[in-house]
Amino acid sequence: MNKIKKQLEEVKLRISQIANSANKVKLIAVSKRFPPEYIQTAYDAGHRRFGENKVQELITKQPILPKDIEWHLIGHLQSNKVVKAVQLAHYIHSVDSMKILNKIDNSAEKYNKKPKILLQVNISEEESKTGITVKEIDEFVRISLECKNLELVGFMTMAPFNASECELRNIFASLCELRNNIEKKYNMSLPELSMGMSSDYHIAIDEGSTFVRVGTSIFGKREPL
Ligand SMILES: *Cc1c(COP(=O)(O)O)cnc(C)c1O
Repeated sequence: MNKIKKQLEEVKLRISQIANSANKVKLIAVSKRFPPEYIQTAYDAGHRRFGENKVQELITKQPILPKDIEWHLIGHLQSNKVVKAVQLAHYIHSVDSMKILNKIDNSAEKYNKKPKILLQVNISEEESKTGITVKEIDEFVRISLECKNLELVGFMTMAPFNASECELRNIFASLCELRNNIEKKYNMSLPELSMGMSSDYHIAIDEGSTFVRVGTSIFGKREPL
C-alpha cells in the first residue's frame, strides 16, 4: 500500500517535469481491476481523479468510496450500461457511436446530469480499435453540440499496442491538430485531449495531452484476465 503512494508521487513528479506550464496535465489514476482499498490508498495520499473501463466496476466501487472522487469512464460503453454510466461518471471518454451519444443525452436529461464527454477517435484507423474515424468527427461534433444535456470537452484516443515512439508521436500530434482545427471551424473551445497511458504518457504530454490515463505505473501489474 505504501508502494501505491510512492508510485503515485513518482508519476506526478514525472508529469510535472515533462509538462510545461502552458498545458495543464491532469492525472487519471486508472483503477480498473484493482480493489477499492487501492483507490482509498491513493485517495488518502490526496488523489481525487480515478478511471474505470467497465461500468460494472464503477457500480460496485463508487458507493463504498468517498463522494468527492471524480470518476472517469474510459472503456468502451455498451448501450445498456449508459444509464448507470451517466449516473456515476463525471466524464465519459469513450463515446464512439451516435446511438451512445443520443442515449447519454437522453439519460442525462432524465437523471438531471450533465456529463462531460470526449469523442474517442481511431486516429491510426486500426481495424481492431474502437472509435470514430477522422472523417466522422465533424458530424459527431455537430450532433454533440446539439445535445443539451452533455458537454463535449474534447477527444480521446488509444494508441496501438505495438506502436513505435515515432508512430505514437504522430498519432498524438494528429489528434491535437484535429482538435485545433475543429476549435477554429466551430469557434469553440475543446480543452481536453485524453491520451497517454503508463508506457507512453511522457510522449502524449509532449504532444499536448491534458488527461493522462495511468494505471500500471501507480497500482502495479494487473492480474491477467
Ligand atoms: C487500462 C487502461 C489504461 C491504463 O493502462 P496502463 O497501461 O495500466 O497505464 C488507460 N486507458 C484505457 C482506456 C485503459 O483501458
